[in-house]
Amino acid sequence: MTTPTGYAVGYNDASIQCFITDGELCFNAQSTTDSPAHGDGAHVWKANLRNCCSPTKPFKSKTIPLYEVLSANSSRDELTITCVRRHRSKSPVKSYVFHIPSGHDCKKLAETVWAAAYGNITRRKRALVLLNPFGGSGKAKFLWNEIASHIFKAALYDIDVLETQYAGHATEMASKLELNKYDMVICVSGDGLAHEVLNGFAKRPDAVEALAMPVGFVPAGSGNASAKSIYNTQKHIECALSIVKGVATPVDLLSMTQGDQRYLSYLSTSFGVIADADLGTEHLRWMGQARFTYGVVRSILLRTAYPCTISLSIATDDKARMKKEYLERNAIAHTSIGRTAATPADEDASFKGLPPLKYGTVKDPLPPDWVTKSFPRMGTFYAGLMPYMSSTACFFPTITPASGLMDVLYIEADIPFLNALKTVGAVDSAKHFDSDYCYYAKCDAFRLVPARDTDLISVDGEKKPCEPIQGEIHHALGMIITKNGKYFSQFSD
Ligand code: ADP
Ligand code: MG
Repeated sequence: MTTPTGYAVGYNDASIQCFITDGELCFNAQSTTDSPAHGDGAHVWKANLRNCCSPTKPFKSKTIPLYEVLSANSSRDELTITCVRRHRSKSPVKSYVFHIPSGHDCKKLAETVWAAAYGNITRRKRALVLLNPFGGSGKAKFLWNEIASHIFKAALYDIDVLETQYAGHATEMASKLELNKYDMVICVSGDGLAHEVLNGFAKRPDAVEALAMPVGFVPAGSGNASAKSIYNTQKHIECALSIVKGVATPVDLLSMTQGDQRYLSYLSTSFGVIADADLGTEHLRWMGQARFTYGVVRSILLRTAYPCTISLSIATDDKARMKKEYLERNAIAHTSIGRTAATPADEDASFKGLPPLKYGTVKDPLPPDWVTKSFPRMGTFYAGLMPYMSSTACFFPTITPASGLMDVLYIEADIPFLNALKTVGAVDSAKHFDSDYCYYAKCDAFRLVPARDTDLISVDGEKKPCEPIQGEIHHALGMIITKNGKYFSQFSD
């Protein structure tokens, strides 16, 4: 990387004026004194650029969002400012070095840039990076080394990288993790690695405290629904930047019970067409994300039906109300909360391990107020805690991070063929929500009893036994690093 050099000719608390004299650019930068917002573009570092090879040409104005500034470092007479660079063919970061003439406080200048770029977001965090070399089509290592790691290094993060050696390894590591050693765990894989990490935390006697460890996502799997829901993108540079400039956000988790097992889910439970599309296409990993689309179309074409009984603890199934309340909830900005701040789960912390189950397990009698219905020909049953279930499919547009409720939908198999395709096709724009073929409800618990043990149940994209399963919400038990305290959804624009 060639680094332009230059010198600062003026400086006060609100502005930086630097002229880069390496024969390439003149640079006259002015920063705002406001603290940066979590969204990009709100507070900017404005720069006037001039090509020094053509000094007669007027200044070109360039704007660099402070959101994109990763670090500012001073030595005795040199200031280095490092920013994100989004051009694909080049390094994802770019540094500018300014020579600071004597009489100017270089350290103070660097601190001004740091403060403007980060506001009240903690800088230079300690991160444990867990990387699954098996995720997606096996590119996690490459994506981390060549792209995402540069952003964290430029932001001066203290990073330990551990590669998983086998399925279940991340659960083991999380169950033994020294919590005080890190500020966050970053999962470089698909959705399944975070499922493992959260369940490692869940096994601990101090589960509540462990689950307050913020988890970030660098998408490198074939299912990256979480990254899309949290960062509105699956681009690695953007996700890494969203983690560096993001906020630890409390999220609801589900306790799942199956037989004598209890484990956590943070994303989804599916049965029927979607579970088949996800788990029934493992042999097509080489296709990347396209394997899901292939799987869904295949199931619809074959008119496959999945008999089951479903019981729901329903808060509402009034679609107009759900949409209205979503818009109201989403308009309220979530505040940043730190690693040690109390979550609602902490407030009632008479327990340190997993919270007690309000509704018992799947083996207990059903609570009398749950609504139970049998479906001899179910098409898709889907429960979700995040809006997106793939890079484009916004199945649960009314979910917000810690609402205390999950979204549940189902579509029966015997709807006319074209309507089935149309309903599935409408998911990208979340128009399935309004379809008469799609039942949609907000629930705090559900039970699914499959009629056959040969079908598939997927929890967070992971294969689970095809036997009765029950899920209930734990309000704000988990912590995820979001871009701005919210999830992205087709309804939020
Ligand atoms: P994808 O989106 O490709 O499914 P995931 O993050 O969901 O990616 O991971 C897929 C599976 O890989 C998970 O079931 C996880 O337990 C498993 N896994 C993790 N590390 C390894 C490894 N080193 N070798 C094999 N499987 C692994
Ligand atoms: Mg997966």
